[in-house]
Amino acid sequence: MASVLVVEDDPVIRAALIEVLTGHGHAVRTAHQGFEGLREITRSPPDIVVLDLGLPDLDGLDVLRMIRGISRVPVLVATARDEETEIIRLLNAGADDYLVKPFSGGQLAARLGAVLRRSAPADDPADRRRPVRVADLSIDPTARTAHLAGRELALTKREFDLLAYLAAHADQVVSRQRILSEVWQQPYLEDQTVDVHLSALRRKMGEKARKPRLLHTVRGIGIKLVSAP
Ligand code: CA
Repeated sequence: MASVLVVEDDPVIRAALIEVLTGHGHAVRTAHQGFEGLREITRSPPDIVVLDLGLPDLDGLDVLRMIRGISRVPVLVATARDEETEIIRLLNAGADDYLVKPFSGGQLAARLGAVLRRSAPADDPADRRRPVRVADLSIDPTARTAHLAGRELALTKREFDLLAYLAAHADQVVSRQRILSEVWQQPYLEDQTVDVHLSALRRKMGEKARKPRLLHTVRGIGIKLVSAP
């Protein structure tokens, strides 16, 4: 079972998608417009997104690019535009696969299953213990040490956990909400809790919020550790 976010403005198609997907045992959430879809992805990342390209508020291709700016979630695009150039553009913009409307429920379920299989993370606990390298930062979860350009950072437990989490999600914007629930395991704390630790981390890494190198704040969305400063 996967959690699927369906971004589709047409109520009839939306209802049909919900029926097929729940029929295959998936948990389905919906958004009716592009911005709403982006908000949902940030608020609570689904396992996969089914994205209609013809949305009332934003061009579907732009929505796809914006999703790729904040997340690596697999995206299956549903398009009525059955043209090769369009499909190539979609795949280049980061779609994992596409469906040309009208498509059958069986085809949707099969494509969705294939994308999910390809993108399934290797959920090997050993992976979480493996050292992570992001630019000149290296983190060893077993030894609980972090080095920046070869110099060990003196971090508190929380600072280390925060940095290790951001490194494991390098190049993705992670919301403060998600950090609070996944690092602190206390989703109801104030966002400022994250900011306090973030600024300590920044200081120790020799960075300034206004001139970030690795640790970036994306206004209104969250925080991103970048691998190519
Ligand atoms: Ca539409």
